[in-house]
Amino acid sequence: MSYIEKNLLEVNKKIDEAAKGAGREVDEIKLIAVTKTYGADLINEAISFGVTDIGENRVQEIMEKYESVKPVRWHLIGHLQKNKVKYIIDKVELIHSVDSLELAAEIDKKAKKIDKVQKILLEVNVSGEESKFGIEPKLCIDICRAISELENVKIMGLMTVAPFTDDEELLSSVFSGLKGLAEKIRQENIKNVSMEELSMGMTNDFPLAIEKGATMVRVGTGIFGKRDYTK
Ligand SMILES: *Cc1c(COP(=O)(O)O)cnc(C)c1O
Repeated sequence: MSYIEKNLLEVNKKIDEAAKGAGREVDEIKLIAVTKTYGADLINEAISFGVTDIGENRVQEIMEKYESVKPVRWHLIGHLQKNKVKYIIDKVELIHSVDSLELAAEIDKKAKKIDKVQKILLEVNVSGEESKFGIEPKLCIDICRAISELENVKIMGLMTVAPFTDDEELLSSVFSGLKGLAEKIRQENIKNVSMEELSMGMTNDFPLAIEKGATMVRVGTGIFGKRDYTK
């Protein structure tokens, strides 16, 4: 058995256990295999073992790999600059990292050109870390309202990147914070805005994120091993 197959079995088992432990159905949770820095061969291997959704951080990497990777749903999970929207608009299933009205407006414009309604998540800086991208929680409702007016984007939910820490209490409060914010937005009943997706949890903390309500977990290292950024 290859290490990727083995790791995938392990990750899926943990997803299963976390879902059961939280009294949730396992098919409520989608695994996004985060493929940044990994080449098409390894990605295709993961796809052959059942991966249906992959996440990339950088537009450049999506463009470099797109032709060599087997059919799969692509997710953009990293910061997106407005001037790069045009390169990926025809390629991605979901953009997890929308952090401003201006970016959403640009996505809307480019989606309109190809007659697509682009699904997006709002990235929220729940932890308030200064180094993090994402919308301040208290601004989210207003931004949702403004984005809901755009015809060619549809908000499907929220995403956050938790702090890099083993502090379970802190992680729990971040995940619960995102879930609570989604509930609050849901109660506003904004047309064209769905709060069905919560993208949270990475290799170190995805079981906890599932316990707290994640519907998408983004796992890289846990599947592909340590990344080598020198290449
Ligand atoms: C790299 C990355 C991940 C995956 O991180 P791992 O710790 O390797 O699982 C998830 N989400 C985002 C936004 C990332 O940049």
